[in-house]
Amino acid sequence: MNRDEAILRELNLYPQWVRRAAAPVAAEPAVVAPIAVAELDPVASRAEQPAPVAEPGVSTADNCADLGWAELKARVQSCTACALRAGCKQTVFGVGDEQADWLFVGEGPGADEDERGEPFVGQAGQLLDNMLMAIRLKRGKSVYITNVVKCRPPGNRAPEAAEIRQCLPYLQRQIQLVRPKVIVALGKTAALALLGVDATLGSLRGKVHDCQGTPLIITYHPAYLLRTPADKAKAWQDLCLAVSTMNGLVD
Ligand code: SF4
Repeated sequence: MNRDEAILRELNLYPQWVRRAAAPVAAEPAVVAPIAVAELDPVASRAEQPAPVAEPGVSTADNCADLGWAELKARVQSCTACALRAGCKQTVFGVGDEQADWLFVGEGPGADEDERGEPFVGQAGQLLDNMLMAIRLKRGKSVYITNVVKCRPPGNRAPEAAEIRQCLPYLQRQIQLVRPKVIVALGKTAALALLGVDATLGSLRGKVHDCQGTPLIITYHPAYLLRTPADKAKAWQDLCLAVSTMNGLVD
């Protein structure tokens, strides 16, 4: 068994996952428009619970377009722009190489992430690490990982559209600072937030989208893949598309 097969077997994917040729690229218009999320990702979402009772503070996500890393991190840390901050232990900014070629964007922190202040550290994080390993990437090594919202939604529910709208300027500034070559959206919430459209995950997969001038690939959230391992094969196709997109870029 070669190294690739060993990795895929560890992921419980071998021989199910097979590297395939990339799907045709379908360029889409560049859009990072004000988000209009009418429907949040039902598959990457957890149990719906009521939002915490909190007094939203002043929106400190405004006017962050000129901030450097340190100022942006401090701004997020002190942000009370939406009610999510009142229900979480700490903000979860992002982790990894700040000049990474790859940017992976999830939905929002879960319980483990809220505890440790780092995105994707629970079971879903382990799967993400294995997915990265399968395409010869490693957390922190030319990879940056963050979420659409920086505070844990109560009960691990999906973030609401208003919460995403409040938090999105932070993610947009992170993208500007990292300047990744390829962005991978993990789940529908991240995909819709980055594209500013409303669509099904299925309709968005298999294409190369444009996000602030950067190729954007859309795949499933690892938490969903843990619950639906049969779709790991599709996620593998998405990762292969991301790799072929990266490989096809001209510096
Ligand atoms: Fe601020 Fe985002 Fe946290 Fe809401 S989720 S309080 S906008 S950092």
